[in-house]
Amino acid sequence: MNFNYDWENILLQCKNKVIICIAPSLKTLKDPQPDLGKGAGGDIMKLVDLAAESAIIDTLETNNVSFTLISEESGIKEFGSNPQELFVTVDPIDGTTNLMHGLPFYASSIAISRKPEISEVYVAMVADLFHDITYMAFDGRGAYCNGEKIETSSIVSLYEAVVGLDINTGNVKAIESQLTDLIENAGHIRHFGANALELCYVADGSTDAFVDIRAKLRTTDVAASFLIVKEAGGIVTSLENKAINAKLDPKQTVSFVASGNHQMHKHILDLVRA
Ligand SMILES: [Mg+2]
Repeated sequence: MNFNYDWENILLQCKNKVIICIAPSLKTLKDPQPDLGKGAGGDIMKLVDLAAESAIIDTLETNNVSFTLISEESGIKEFGSNPQELFVTVDPIDGTTNLMHGLPFYASSIAISRKPEISEVYVAMVADLFHDITYMAFDGRGAYCNGEKIETSSIVSLYEAVVGLDINTGNVKAIESQLTDLIENAGHIRHFGANALELCYVADGSTDAFVDIRAKLRTTDVAASFLIVKEAGGIVTSLENKAINAKLDPKQTVSFVASGNHQMHKHILDLVRA
């Protein structure tokens, strides 16, 4: 058993290797893409997703990490001699659609835990691969952007707020009535298309909140960024204002509100629950 890994160093190695390994794919985005079927999370897999996943696995193996991988692409796989002692939850590329369209907003997300539960994550990294900006968090020790400590927004006026809102769904009728008041009362609504990275914008105060009530987002997408928001001083709960404790699994989905501070969180929950 070895829990004394230098995670900051290993995760930075993962990020650097992902950037190198996806570079060839970025040059061939306009070419016909092979049919790779769906990943464990249910989305169509692209070569770039698999290249990023291999880069992360290779880096962990090079560092002699024994772990159970919980990945949006390959699902659940064991590596090394004691795989049940450490869980590495990965979304190799969050925002693959952005990447494929040349939109510069996509990330790798990696969360480390000792149990396959989102509340057990104790080290997290979300790396903006286009801009090479790395967000990390360590349980009880804060959240960081490129090594600098970050904090969430202190804005409490929803009228002044920038609120991320994911409304990508084939069934908008199921959520529209819950979101009308929020959309009408929030100063600015945004959606950038890579939710792990959008949550890091809540963490560093670039935005004031992020809301996803579609019950579509997987725990593999948000395992890392929930810790980053919380360690930056933000709040992440269910619509019922309960702490989120969900299984880390490519099929497990969550709905949530993440806010920079308690007052903003209350404003949003009051409007979304109405
Ligand atoms: Mg992905």
